[in-house]
Amino acid sequence: MPLISSPPVWREFFQYYYENEINRLAGKISSGDGAERSIYVDVLSHLAFFKEGILAEELFTNPDRVISDATRGIELTENIYDVRLENCVPRFVNLPVARRVLIRDLRADHILKFVSIEGIVRKVTEVRPKIVEAVFTCTSCGKKVSTYQESSNLKYPYECPACKSKRFVFHPEESTLIDSQRIKIQEYPENLKGGEQPQSIDVYLEGDITGLVNPGDRVIINGTVRANPRGMGQKRLVHMDLFIEGNSIEILQQEYEEFEITEEDKRRILELSEDGEIYDKIIKSIAPSIYGYEDIKLAIALQLFGGVPKRLPDGTEIRGDIHILLVGDPGVAKSQLLRYVHRIAPRSVYTTGKGTTTAGLTATAVRDEIDGRWTLEAGALVLADKGIALVDEIDKMRTEDRGALHEAMEQQTISVAKAGINAVLKARCALLGAANPKYGRFDRYAPIAEQINLSPTLMSRFDLIFVLTDDPDERRDVELAKHILRTHRLGEKLEKMRNVSSEFTRQSIEEEILKVTPVIDPELLRKYIAYAKRTVFPILTDEAEKRITDFYVGMRSRAKENSPVPVTARQLEALIRLAEASARIRLSDRIELEDVERVIGIIRKSLEQIALDPETGEIDIDYAFSGTSKTQRDRIMMIKRLVEELEAEYEKGVPEDVIFEEAEKMGIERGKTRELLIKMREKGELYCPRPDHYRVVHNY
Ligand code: ADP
Ligand code: MG
Repeated sequence: MPLISSPPVWREFFQYYYENEINRLAGKISSGDGAERSIYVDVLSHLAFFKEGILAEELFTNPDRVISDATRGIELTENIYDVRLENCVPRFVNLPVARRVLIRDLRADHILKFVSIEGIVRKVTEVRPKIVEAVFTCTSCGKKVSTYQESSNLKYPYECPACKSKRFVFHPEESTLIDSQRIKIQEYPENLKGGEQPQSIDVYLEGDITGLVNPGDRVIINGTVRANPRGMGQKRLVHMDLFIEGNSIEILQQEYEEFEITEEDKRRILELSEDGEIYDKIIKSIAPSIYGYEDIKLAIALQLFGGVPKRLPDGTEIRGDIHILLVGDPGVAKSQLLRYVHRIAPRSVYTTGKGTTTAGLTATAVRDEIDGRWTLEAGALVLADKGIALVDEIDKMRTEDRGALHEAMEQQTISVAKAGINAVLKARCALLGAANPKYGRFDRYAPIAEQINLSPTLMSRFDLIFVLTDDPDERRDVELAKHILRTHRLGEKLEKMRNVSSEFTRQSIEEEILKVTPVIDPELLRKYIAYAKRTVFPILTDEAEKRITDFYVGMRSRAKENSPVPVTARQLEALIRLAEASARIRLSDRIELEDVERVIGIIRKSLEQIALDPETGEIDIDYAFSGTSKTQRDRIMMIKRLVEELEAEYEKGVPEDVIFEEAEKMGIERGKTRELLIKMREKGELYCPRPDHYRVVHNY
């Protein structure tokens, strides 16, 4: 069937619907302003109504011909400046949902069709000029010859039209150039079912739509699907790679808008929010197959709802995202918890510290393997923007990521400055990390900082740290075993029912099923979270504020003179964030006393696990993060001075016994002194010239 599309038909369309835009663009061109050369056509609002939608349909099925007609149609339009609208590009946006194709569903049938794909920008190359029309001179007769360039390799003229010579000199400065960029779009991480690898597709962009997007942006790309034979140069394969020649980009607002919440959903969410047991219900909806860990599950619930991100009048931005670190023995279900959160979080990215891509956790600039262009690639934290990044084995992350993580966790940005690339990417995500102890098992009596391969400064950026130990405890072991066995047995029954005929029916095992079924359906919980984050912005009540102040000042006051500093301003901010999240769970506009109490409880639990100085039985953040408590630090200083003084008398090292005796006079008992001596030796403050004789290491 012949197409109705032709330059005059398009001229009619543009003249009718886009007269103002045509004049505006003509004005810009006549004043020599800028590189803008685009006319945006709204398909659903305009093109779909023109010629009964036939022209739109032709665009979808025959884009090459139709876009070329439309381009010439623009040239034919009249404008008040009387300039010729040469090389202006029609860009089509707002396509019907029926034209949306999932990246993983792109097939041979789509080749040379106009489609709309949606996803997250994973990589962008630098914007660089590309030759559209190359100019040459013939070396024999000097004639100028120009050639249109269609592929990526520069095409020379076949022969000189004047003298038939086949030798030419290329003139890049006289050739026609256009900005070009290649980007990679990846499926949304949240749309993947557990364990699926995200698929991606390359998009080629030209002209004024280059340089518009950053890794991490969520976009709709409208364009023509094309195929390229795989392989390079002479060696081409029959297998093809698909790519999209991008015609337009729509950048999406990065909110939880992809969740459609119906009136019925809303009714159920509001009902749940008024339930007196809501916190308990949410805890029971997080990984019900994992036994215990109610505190951790509550913390995760708070993390899912999040605090309120704020921008202050002086421009300061304060994060609302809550970061949590799970530290502990192998086999205590850390990874399992992370995977579960990945399943229920409205938006999340799951990765391991080692990372699955070149960009690792953060972002990096790499040289592209195809054309050598510098490429900016987003890592997990950028892809998790406005969601949760789940990082298992975070202690094994790469050195490059360690530095970047400080910035990412506090400022929520990731800066990349390398080669031609200078970018600040957004990473507004909460981080849930899991780490294993350096020496296999966690030692309750040694400070956490010494046992985890993470720097103290990095650790202090987590709002909450939990230690999961696998200490034998008969009562708990029995319960845990029962729980795991019950879960496995239920799994066995379900598999049997699924695969062969069996004596079990769903009804007969209903009760067992209920025990490991989340109280709130994950689908509803996800909507609940999205709804709360979108609509609830709670404010501290006076009582809540007073309680927080009292708690903070109370902990701080113990820091008088010689006692350790228990809580820093960082913990105060964590407290506020967590209290905001707690109010959000109730969909409450007010942060009440109950929120603060709930949060104080959980912060205490976390601090008791990581910051209890075994010597004094007091909470001491310094002890947690630096491995030495205030008391210890004081004693270390005392012993160091002591050894220093005695050194003059004992050239070959101060005998241990002498140190014990003298230290005892200062109130440090023998056992303690022995411990400290070992510690100081390990840290390189003392050394032993002979066994049991000590000298101070001087750092000149
Ligand atoms: P980790 O990452 O801490 O090394 P995993 O998440 O790989 O541990 O857990 C190991 C296995 O032990 C998993 O199959 C997990 O389900 C099971 N497991 C450990 N602790 C529990 C628990 N409290 N409840 C249920 N299963 C558990
Ligand atoms: Mg693990």
